[in-house]
Amino acid sequence: MCIIAELQFQSPFIYMKTLLFNLVLILAFQSSNSCGESNSRNSSGDESTPPKIIADSFAYPVGDSDYVTEAKDSKDLWYNAQDFGENNHLGEDWNKNSGGNTDCGEPVFAAANGTITYAANAGSGWGNVIIIEHTLPDGRKVQTLYGHLEKILKSGGTVKKREQIGTVGNADGRYLCHLHFELREESCLLWNKVFVGYSPINSGWLDPSDFIDGHLR
Ligand SMILES: [Zn+2]
Repeated sequence: MCIIAELQFQSPFIYMKTLLFNLVLILAFQSSNSCGESNSRNSSGDESTPPKIIADSFAYPVGDSDYVTEAKDSKDLWYNAQDFGENNHLGEDWNKNSGGNTDCGEPVFAAANGTITYAANAGSGWGNVIIIEHTLPDGRKVQTLYGHLEKILKSGGTVKKREQIGTVGNADGRYLCHLHFELREESCLLWNKVFVGYSPINSGWLDPSDFIDGHLR
């Protein structure tokens, strides 16, 4: 199971990084009342890079259609192996029902119209990562993060909902293949950044499936 694999293979370095991040989060929350400083900075004066493309609906990043169930059932070939909040997880781990590495190389799709703002190998524990910024019809912005990719097929520019951006991978051999998928608000301290995938403080992160279910066409 990728969950076990992901937890077992957390190196002391990653563990220390998570502890450090949580300490920084606590200090930041005490001094700025839950990310308000970051939010105000990002929500103004960024007209030089406006993604004009509007995310008017969202879809799941894996599977043959816009919608897959989180359950390991016969309705589709995919399931969420580690939910948002479980073990302080900041995202969801999407696997194929068939398990193991049967999902290696499967397509990963943009969850909505948006602009790619990060596409690189983020190092140990992450592998290749893509972040897409989405502007909602009301002007608010969210970001989706796609981690452990085998391949990055698109590294910049605008993307359409369900456009393939990469393939499912194993973070350079660290885990069994799966997609680590996050959804963040602008108030997130890690806006457009890749650092840790687990934290007991998850203000600024949203439950990806809940958000998508509320924004299906
Ligand atoms: Zn994960």
